[in-house]
Amino acid sequence: MQPLLMSHCPYCGWPDDQPAQDLSLHRTAEGAVVWTRCGCGSLQARVLTSGCVRIVTRGRPPA
Ligand SMILES: [Zn+2]
Repeated sequence: MQPLLMSHCPYCGWPDDQPAQDLSLHRTAEGAVVWTRCGCGSLQARVLTSGCVRIVTRGRPPA
């Protein structure tokens, strides 16, 4: 089970802990980097470390 994110997408208000689509997962020395796409099309990368998740980058939805 993934740790909860309490934030929301600034573009459509979707809860960040329920990404519409998981695109890919990369294991790094820091933890797992997961790319997700929101329902509005905004891409984000989140880093999962032990018991902790944070969003490191978030793109704008396509125009
Ligand atoms: Zn969104």
